[in-house]
Order: sequence, then structure tokens, then C-alpha cells
Amino acid sequence: MSLLQAIRGMNDILPKQTAWWQYVETLCAELAHQYGYREIRFPLVEKTELFKRSVGEVTDIVEKEMYTFPARNGDSLSLRPEGTAGCVRACLEHGLIARGVQRLWYSGAMYRHERPQQGRYRQFHQFGLEIYGVDSVVAEAEQIAFMWRFFNYLGIQDQVKLELNSLGSQQCRQLYKDALVDYFSGHSEKLDDDCARRLTTNPLRILDSKNPDMQELVVNAPKFEDYLSDESKSSFAKLRKILDSFHIPYELNSRLVRGLDYYSHTVYEWTTSELGAQGTICAGGRYDKLVELLGGKPTSAVGFAIGIERLILLLQNTHKDRSPTVSVDVYFVLVGEDALHQGLLLAERLRAEMPQLNVIINSQGGSFKSQFKRADKLGARFALVLGDEEIKQDVITLKYLRDNEKAQVTMAFEQVVELLNKEAS
Ligand code: ATP
Ligand code: MG
Repeated sequence: MSLLQAIRGMNDILPKQTAWWQYVETLCAELAHQYGYREIRFPLVEKTELFKRSVGEVTDIVEKEMYTFPARNGDSLSLRPEGTAGCVRACLEHGLIARGVQRLWYSGAMYRHERPQQGRYRQFHQFGLEIYGVDSVVAEAEQIAFMWRFFNYLGIQDQVKLELNSLGSQQCRQLYKDALVDYFSGHSEKLDDDCARRLTTNPLRILDSKNPDMQELVVNAPKFEDYLSDESKSSFAKLRKILDSFHIPYELNSRLVRGLDYYSHTVYEWTTSELGAQGTICAGGRYDKLVELLGGKPTSAVGFAIGIERLILLLQNTHKDRSPTVSVDVYFVLVGEDALHQGLLLAERLRAEMPQLNVIINSQGGSFKSQFKRADKLGARFALVLGDEEIKQDVITLKYLRDNEKAQVTMAFEQVVELLNKEAS
């Protein structure tokens, strides 16, 4: 029988890699806590209608990237392609948004049927923040500051760039759409099939085209900033002023529209030039219309999502010599049946007394020599050795595996624990 393999674009994450994941995920959760955000968890599967309404019918995600299937009762269901829709749905369903300002974070797998390549997968992971009920740019500023702090902690602040744009209010956007339709209609012979279709369904999306043949046309298209109302302009200026006072560098990018329909006013991306075409590490902005669109009262909303795979690729790329692998603290070398039994008990006692230690027992037999070899291969700092002699005298030997200067000692288990308490701190 042939070996079964994972689904294309859905990755196993092996122990060597999970150390990086845990490192990043722990930092995400700790920082979120620092900023007063609380975790929310919502299902991986939702009604397809939710994503159609929120992400937008005429977006790449809904048109061609969702995993959609019929439930047994005939409902159309989809694996979540992103987190914001489910988050808003959950908050509305449980009345959270009506209770005033909410600061929430989520983390988990998302699914999109895209062509797999480095940094682009069919199952990938996002960490995101959402804030509801704050109508000033204070919300955007807080979340951008969060990301800047995050990148600085990880030591990749020089590898990322903040690109910023404002999509204005719905009214501004309508004016702008009209101008785009005028412009692109005048060049309709140059539009590819996707863009020609978008001209009638969702003209803003043409700006988002990844087709290199469209680039010249897109570069010369009307600019959003010329259609922003004074109010939109002044709140955008306010955000930029705050970012300046935070000393967070950014670039204005008037072509940034984002691949989801729910954004208005501020949109941004943190990008890197080090991951080729998959350069967007984090994307977010304001989406004031979404809560209402999903049946709630009009509510200000701002959020972002980090692509964890891309973030880790960038981290590993930048810090090639750094690896958050966990090394073993104590390895029990146990020769003989009695020693194995006694070792099991002592390892449990050690774990109870020193919970910070990583303790492994030799569980596959072998001579002293082969067991020490294993301990060494795992990078253990200390070996605790039990053989016939130790068992007979009710003592244990502590051997320093990373320090040749220090001689091994043999004494009662309690004294070894005392010594380890001093040495391992
Ligand atoms: P892209 O332009 O690269 O397709 P996007 O605009 O579709 O990204 P969002 O929907 O805004 O991305 O998702 C936020 C972040 O999630 C992205 O910036 C990226 O880091 C990550 N991401 C999105 N799609 C994928 C994917 N298929 N595989 C891995 N990460 C992804
Ligand atoms: Mg995409």
C-alpha cells in the first residue's frame, strides 16, 4: 500500500519548527495582553454566506479561493479564509459589541485554495487583533504601534516597511470608483479578462491586479487622494502625525486597496522585500461598515492579521544563527532494571521539585557509554546516573556534560536536587 501524504499546500510543522512557532505565538499572546486585548476563538467553518457578505462576492478569496462544500442539510459551508468575518459574527451573536469597546485577538488556521509556493499555502495561520467601538484613528495608531513593538522585539524592524493608504468614506469611494470606471473604460482593449470583468463588478479590484501587463495602466490610473473628502483627509493626517511622533516610519501607497471589500478609510500593509512575491507579512485597516452589514448597529472597527508562516520565514532568514530550540536540562542515565524503576520515580520527584527543568529519562536501555552519547546528542546539561552501585548505596551521580572542569559527584538524591537548584538557575 502506498504511503498517504498530506494535502498539497497544507503543511506539517515538525518539532524543530514548532519551537519557532511557540516563540512567536507566545510573544503574540503576551503583547496582546500588554495592550489589553483578550482572546476570542471561533469555528473553522462558517456559513458561506458570511464570507460572501463580508469579504465580498467579487474578491479573489470568495470567487476562487474558498473551500466550500454542502452540509448534510443542504447549507453551503466554507472553511474560514480569514478571521475578521467570524470574529464579528461571534461578537454580534453573543452581544459583545453592544457592551462597549472590545479589544480582541485570535490566532489559528485559515484556508484558501491558492497555488502553493513559498509563503503561500492552502492552510496557513494568522494572528489578528480587532477593536470595536473606537471611531478615531487612536485605534489604528494603537495597532500599528503594537506591530512596531512586535517587529522590534523580534529584531526584524529593519526588514519591514509600513505602507499606508486611505480609502476614504463610502461617498469618496463612490466618486473614485466612477473616475476609475471612466479611466479604465477608455483603455478597455488593454484590460485582461479578470480586469475587464471587474470594471463592471468591482473596479477598485483592478488596482489590486497582480498581472504585470496591467501595471502601466494601473500606475497611471486616477489617485485616491484626489477624491478624498476634507474630513477623510484630516483624519488620515492625524494618524500620520501620531505615527511620526511614535517615530514609526511609513510610506504612502495610493494603490493599496487590500483584497477584501470590507475596508474603508485607513488600510495598510507591513511588507518585506526579502520574501519575493509573498512580501506582505501583516495587513489591516478600518472596516466601519462590516458590523452593520452583518446585522449589527453601526460600529467602528479596526483590525489586522499577521501571516505567521511568512513572519517565521522572515525571522529565520534574518537571524540565521538564532534558533529557539529547547535543549534538555537533565538526562537520567539508567543501567539495569532496578535503576530504570528507581530512575522513573526520581525523575517524577525532580519534576515536582524543579518544574522549570526539562527532564528526560533514558528509556531504551544500553550501556553507560551509549546512554551518555544520547544525552550528549540531545545537548543535555546534566546527567543523573544510576547503576548497580548507586542503587546499592542509595545515592545518585551527577555528571556535568557541558563543563569539563567540574568533577562528577555522588550523593543522596536530596543533595543532588539542592545542588541542581544552585547550578541550574
Ligand atoms: P496576498 O496579497 O499575499 O495574497 P492577502 O491580501 O490575500 O495577501 P490578507 O487576506 O490580507 O492577505 O491576509 C493577511 C495576511 O495573511 C497576509 O498579509 C499574509 O501574510 C497572510 N496570508 C494570506 N494568504 C496567505 C496564504 N495563502 N498563505 C500564507 N499566508 C497568507
Ligand atoms: Mg491573497
